Amino acid sequence: MSDESYDIVIVGGGLVGNSLALALAESSLRIAVIEAIDYEQKTDSADDNRAIGLSYTSQRILQKLGVWPKIETKAHSIDSVHISLQGRFGVATISAAEQGLASLGCNIDIHYLQKILADSVRLEAHLVLYAPYRVSACQRVEGQWQLTLTNGPIEKNLKARLVVAADGSDSELRCTMGITAQVWDYQQSALVSRLTFSKPLNNRSYERFTPLGLMAILPAGEREATFIWSTTHDKAAYWQTADEKTRLQQLQNVWGYRLGRLHSISPAIHYPLRRIEANELYRDGFVLIGNAAQTLHPVAAQGFNLGLRSAMMLAEVLQSAQKIGRDYAEAAILAEYVNKQAADRKQIAHFTHFLVSRFSRDKEFVKQWQPLALCGLEWIPGAKSLLARLGLGGAQKALWV
Ligand SMILES: Cc1cc2nc3c(=O)[nH]c(=O)nc-3n(C[C@H](O)[C@H](O)[C@H](O)COP(=O)(O)OP(=O)(O)OC[C@H]3O[C@@H](n4cnc5c(N)ncnc54)[C@H](O)[C@@H]3O)c2cc1C
Repeated sequence: MSDESYDIVIVGGGLVGNSLALALAESSLRIAVIEAIDYEQKTDSADDNRAIGLSYTSQRILQKLGVWPKIETKAHSIDSVHISLQGRFGVATISAAEQGLASLGCNIDIHYLQKILADSVRLEAHLVLYAPYRVSACQRVEGQWQLTLTNGPIEKNLKARLVVAADGSDSELRCTMGITAQVWDYQQSALVSRLTFSKPLNNRSYERFTPLGLMAILPAGEREATFIWSTTHDKAAYWQTADEKTRLQQLQNVWGYRLGRLHSISPAIHYPLRRIEANELYRDGFVLIGNAAQTLHPVAAQGFNLGLRSAMMLAEVLQSAQKIGRDYAEAAILAEYVNKQAADRKQIAHFTHFLVSRFSRDKEFVKQWQPLALCGLEWIPGAKSLLARLGLGGAQKALWV
């Protein structure tokens, strides 16, 4: 069997891998994406009901990648965020209007986003998508990579100059390369359900710090939302066995009637919450990106938003190297990408970890400082803009939007 040869092979055609492929679509590089799941054929969200909050910067990047018109039809705009504490004083509202923007971002089912990105990759003449194929072996032979792809009994071999590992939090390629990672287990799960209620949301999302953990409501329709609750494993286990009536009653107590009467809640899917940071991000001819490089707690809704900015940065660095005749796969070029992305990555990771550790786990902080922190957001000039700026697009001035 003769090997097919590519300049770049992206392992993992999830949100970040496919975004990177689209960002490189107009280069003259030969690019393949290998994805274990056939997202185009996946017809429902039964095993993954997450909704992805896209920041304003991400919307603009997706516009640049040419996929925004398709995403927009399935997305729900977020024009304001209401942050509150259950049973205590302290409320803050961040609105697009006061930041001088049309919206703060939007919310979209992960299922649609994956499908739209996979569709778009498949339609690009310069990109080849192998799905469903799993990379089962990857080894370096005489300065290039040899990859084995499997789909049941079918096997393929590919060659590549650069391998980009976008294969998610438990990246097998990271392990194959012997790259270790620091893992913080938050001892929490995120429970995700669909919630319906009687009052219109008016494009508002809600975050509520409660003694049971952080809860968030993200618009998924006029009177419909994605409900996310980060809580301890034992509370999550109890919640999954409780009947719908009990769950609705408990939520009605927590949220009061700001959403009107709660009508229905779907069974929750739970996601273990971890922070993962790879100890190395590149080697000669190899680079990690997206959740394979860093996995964040979803409290600040930043995982994909950060991964998307990284994909844009990596595409820009690789294409610039190629234009001036440098070897885009060499370690020095990949180091340039890592250095350019470092401040954004560090700031978002610290901001997210701060929110988790202070606002939902540090009992002393929660008791004494949390209400003041929320009031401070309202009263301290510039505090809300700073928070909005982090949520909207990260620390870095994005050159590509
Ligand atoms: C509850 C929850 C809510 C979230 N909400 C938000 C949010 O609102 N906003 C936000 O920005 N982020 C959010 N995130 C984070 C976001 O989901 C992730 O950051 C994002 O999905 C990471 O994308 P990725 O492409 O790096 O990894 P993944 O989405 O994990 O994709 C990796 C892909 O690689 C494939 N793969 C793995 N191994 C192989 C192999 N050997 N061969 C071939 N393919 C392989 C997998 O099938 C998969 O498709 C949330 C996360 C959680 C848990």
